Amino acid sequence: MKSLADPVAALKGVGPKSAVALNKLGINTVGDLLLEYPFRYDDFAVRKLSEISDQEKVTLKGTVASEAVLTRFGRKKSRLNFRLLVDHDVIMVTFFNQPYLAQKVETGKEMAVYGKWDAKRQRLAGMKILFNEGANDLAGVYRSSKDIKQTTVKKLVKQAYDGYKDVLTDIIPEETRCKFRLLPRKVMIHDMHFPEDQRTANAARRSAIFDEFFCFQVKMQFVRKVKHKEQGIKIVYDNSQLKLFISSLPFELTDAQKKVVNEICSDMHRDIHMNRLLQGDVGSGKTVVAAIALYAAVTAGFQAALMAPTEILAQQHAEKLDHLFSKFNVNVALLTGSTASRTKTRRELLRHLNDGQIDIVVGTHALIQDDVAFKKLGLVITDEQHRFGVNQRQKFKDKGITPDVLAMTATPIPRTLAITLYGEMDVSTINELPKGRLPIETVWLREKQLNEAITFLKKQLSLGAQAYVISPLIEESEMMDLKNAEEIFAKLKKQLEPAYHVGLLHGRMKGSEKNEIMTDFKNKKFDILVSTTVIEVGVDVSNATMMLILDADRFGLAQLHQLRGRVGRGKKQSYCFLIADPKNEYGVARMKVMAETNDGFVIAQKDLELRGQGDILGNKQSGVPDFRVGDPVTDLRILQAAQQEASEIINDSEFTRKSSNKGLINYLRYELDKGISFD
Ligand code: ADP
Ligand code: MG
Repeated sequence: MKSLADPVAALKGVGPKSAVALNKLGINTVGDLLLEYPFRYDDFAVRKLSEISDQEKVTLKGTVASEAVLTRFGRKKSRLNFRLLVDHDVIMVTFFNQPYLAQKVETGKEMAVYGKWDAKRQRLAGMKILFNEGANDLAGVYRSSKDIKQTTVKKLVKQAYDGYKDVLTDIIPEETRCKFRLLPRKVMIHDMHFPEDQRTANAARRSAIFDEFFCFQVKMQFVRKVKHKEQGIKIVYDNSQLKLFISSLPFELTDAQKKVVNEICSDMHRDIHMNRLLQGDVGSGKTVVAAIALYAAVTAGFQAALMAPTEILAQQHAEKLDHLFSKFNVNVALLTGSTASRTKTRRELLRHLNDGQIDIVVGTHALIQDDVAFKKLGLVITDEQHRFGVNQRQKFKDKGITPDVLAMTATPIPRTLAITLYGEMDVSTINELPKGRLPIETVWLREKQLNEAITFLKKQLSLGAQAYVISPLIEESEMMDLKNAEEIFAKLKKQLEPAYHVGLLHGRMKGSEKNEIMTDFKNKKFDILVSTTVIEVGVDVSNATMMLILDADRFGLAQLHQLRGRVGRGKKQSYCFLIADPKNEYGVARMKVMAETNDGFVIAQKDLELRGQGDILGNKQSGVPDFRVGDPVTDLRILQAAQQEASEIINDSEFTRKSSNKGLINYLRYELDKGISFD
């Protein structure tokens, strides 16, 4: 039987290579492919001359009114000109560098041409001749990559739809569908990919946004409901030991830290599942809060885990914890991807996790791999991971454990959004920085002023400070990223050595190499660290008081704030230079926001306002989960409606018995599979 869970390789023409290319785009199953909607449509509908405007991309249809004239320049370049009679007007059509089209142009022949209209010259800069005109006027444009072409994706979507349309059953109950005037799923998916006209596309989009938000909400709320019924673990920690640990810290906790520690500890103590989000601006001191929670679990006889998104961060956390626990009897271990799978250390580590000798394990997602088994895991903390996905939690569950969960994030999001997006979590907020912090001074400079920044940098270096230089982010190309960073590295070396030492850190280094470089930087073997964005989260070197971000307008606000948060972590005045010649007003707006404020909450709000505007790369840090079609900000009303509706359906006491919910329940079964009881 055909199923939407079939791997993409089940489609004709998908070999191992294209399968991998699709997987890289996050498309694993036929179902994924069908939900991979076009991100825009090219409109090939034939238009009238009287209703089109200058520089618009349009299709014009007419009769060829002159011989085609082909002019060649050099070996590769050419221009093809001919006249086209459109109704009663004669216009000029020009194609560049497509000489082979000359044969297709015959005087007297009817033809539709898609191109860009130049009103002043009455000329259409042709992009393509539409031969099978009469097919869909709107053509979807899909995400693609260098490994898988647009046309291939398009063909596969068509094949998938034709082959699987009969298994596209409804998820949203009919009553809800009628109430919100939504299309049946099969129609919706058809119209998203192959709309007849703009109206059809818009209607499908509206349904698709609701569908996406509804499915997300249903999953979240269902998990929450099930969790509430489950017996959680009671972590009976030793209060006097905990107090001893807190008083051993090199500083006094801020009031905000004390407040969140209380919230977390009381959750752990109760026999519910803790599912809490800890938000606090960069530098607000979340790590030490994590350490306290981890220690609490240990004093209660449990093991605890701390998961970080990168190896550098995991390493740093492990060192920090080692240090904080040096006078306490706590065994901390580090487990990352580079703790290679067959090494003795890894085997030993796994054994000690299993027999309970290790109290706290710090690591990357390697922690949730299949061969990792715990003796008695009570608490999992994730750092800087925006959503500890249902699936990751499921992984622990599959291991037969249901630990308490604390997710830490430095990207605050406005309250209304937090409730809708993280509705299944309780939220703790650290709303102040440790005392004595000086606000980072941020200056935006044009590229031609780069030397001013370097001069300033040198002065500070001579006073013993250290600096980060962040090389520009190159769109989805690690190779280019690297090349760039290396060039800057070489340049700075030439400019500054031997007086100052320059180091280089980039994403293609092995985990162990990265750690070595970071340690060297911490130990002042380098004065300057040139880095790609690998350092963006969590890195803590308090003597580094300067940051120079090149091509800063290529980053989103949240990411800039994260990067900047690497400085200003001690008592000394810190500086951040944004070097940028923004290409549009949104880039300018972002630079101004950064120069004006250090407040993460303000920046988060601005980020949402400016979101999706302009061409920001690497917007992963924005704190808002990615949706395919819906945008939680612009489509907030739909999000709220979907949330409300999902809540009514899930919390109906007859939920699992109503036959109208069958599609929905099947969907939940498929998405959440094992371990969830549907009674
Ligand atoms: P983040 O919230 O960004 O993860 P960290 O936990 O890395 O921040 O803390 C930033 C720095 O502030 C660290 O060097 C940490 O030791 C220090 N710190 C944390 N809490 C306090 C405090 N209450 N008083 C002074 N310094 C603190
Ligand atoms: Mg942190």
